[in-house]
Amino acid sequence: VYSLMIHGGAGRWEELGRAAEATAHGGVLRDIAATGCEMLSGGARALDVVERVVALLEDEPLFNAGRGSVLNADGVVTMDAAIMDGRDLRAGAVASLQRFANPVRVARAVLEHGDHVLLMGEGAARFALAQGFAELPDSYFLVPKRQDEWLRWKDGLLTTDDAVLVHGTVGAVARDLRGDLAAATSTGGRTGKHPGRVGDSCVVGAGVYADSTSCAVSTTGRGEDFMRTALAKSLACQVQWLGLDAAAAADAAMAELEPIGGSGGVIIVDRQGRCAARFNTAHMPHAWAELGGELQVAV
Ligand code: ASP
Repeated sequence: VYSLMIHGGAGRWEELGRAAEATAHGGVLRDIAATGCEMLSGGARALDVVERVVALLEDEPLFNAGRGSVLNADGVVTMDAAIMDGRDLRAGAVASLQRFANPVRVARAVLEHGDHVLLMGEGAARFALAQGFAELPDSYFLVPKRQDEWLRWKDGLLTTDDAVLVHGTVGAVARDLRGDLAAATSTGGRTGKHPGRVGDSCVVGAGVYADSTSCAVSTTGRGEDFMRTALAKSLACQVQWLGLDAAAAADAAMAELEPIGGSGGVIIVDRQGRCAARFNTAHMPHAWAELGGELQVAV
């Protein structure tokens, strides 16, 4: 049986006056998760499915990934993404990538290329070009909502906390019919981030992890907290060595964030195909289908 879970980022709406967005996020997550479920039920590999659904989420300007990414302190979009294959622990990632519509696809190309796990900045862009990905103008990535957020940040109206808690990083975890697991995460990071800042989303073991003998994980929230706790790998260890299921491992993850005041959430699918989502922010919109069951959405 297959399982799929996707998220649209940890954060909150009300305080930012954007409650109406919740409904929109839910609908989009449902549609995209449905596409993933269709692929999985037709026998697609978990790796292909997480790549596809994360690319669809990147294309959707509602989310802080690909088109619609937040702007850094210089007002520039730089994106982080990673993808991991639980069959053999192969992984590919890109950091501070600019001008490519689908960082997760470039990350997949890094994985397939096999020499390296993580490419950053201009080197990653050169790799993407060499792999045949098209470079797009900045105007493709900039959406009015993010420009407004950036202006508010510039004017000191967006507190650091708001900047952290704006929604929209995306991620997916899947178990395919063969029982293999995969995970992918993609983000524009945090509004007003220092140029050169890299978050957890592209760091294997922090923002993403997949091992078919334990679980697949995607995280969202203040990336610094997930890097400090190496949270995704820590979860996988708890599943593998302590025998926790997805729900217990997700609880353990939240407990691990607590001592450092960590903020965000996780989605997990374990090797049996059980799914779990936990977060300590106001919201973390997510959609899932557990063990071939009905598609569900929570915003
Ligand atoms: N974790 C992402 C980062 O710190 C942001 C997020 O998930 O909202 O880059």
